[in-house]
Amino acid sequence: MVQQNQSGVVVFDHPLIAHKLATIRSKDAGHRMFRAALSQIAGLMVYEVTRSLPTETVDIQTPMTTTKCSIIKGTITIVPVLRAGLGMIDGILEVMPEARVGHLGLARDEQTLEPVAYLNKLPVDIDAGPVILVDPMLATGGSASAAISMLRQAGANDIRMICLVAAPEGIERLRKDHPEVTIYAAALDDRLDESGYIVPGLGDAGDRMYGTIQG
Ligand code: URA
Repeated sequence: MVQQNQSGVVVFDHPLIAHKLATIRSKDAGHRMFRAALSQIAGLMVYEVTRSLPTETVDIQTPMTTTKCSIIKGTITIVPVLRAGLGMIDGILEVMPEARVGHLGLARDEQTLEPVAYLNKLPVDIDAGPVILVDPMLATGGSASAAISMLRQAGANDIRMICLVAAPEGIERLRKDHPEVTIYAAALDDRLDESGYIVPGLGDAGDRMYGTIQG
């Protein structure tokens, strides 16, 4: 189901995920189809992302007897980076409805070109369990790196990141800035263009998802 082609990076190799991703790469996919497929892909990916979650053994009383069962330890927090990250949340919550959702909003400062936070709404006890950062497009890695720094500052100590499409440049940046964070990507694309878009990519994920493409 997955290929671990470098340390800390997991690229999915699954026909269903590849098929759904192909449908939304197409410029002809409308926002309704885009949203639905993105959410479904996220739900499929989370199965693998949660494989290494910490567990604990508890006694469970069945109708027949008491038995030892494995349950997930701690409380999971999912954190979408606005706005495109929101498109992956419903699919993940369908699989893990008990997870909490924090929100991070980041915009690029036009002077410094650095990401600046305009929203930081995280659980106060974010260290109560693993944190899954969600952003569909890992392009330069600048906002993902800033988001991870914000999660660390808030106290998160077990962070994983899910993206739909990653560029080599974004992976390199995160491996350098946050080598302890495992990145899960449905696809690893070729490169960034001069405007910072992933090629072949799928365009602006937020615009594709919400039907706000200009012109
Ligand atoms: N953000 C997007 O939405 N798409 C890209 O290709 C790069 C960044």
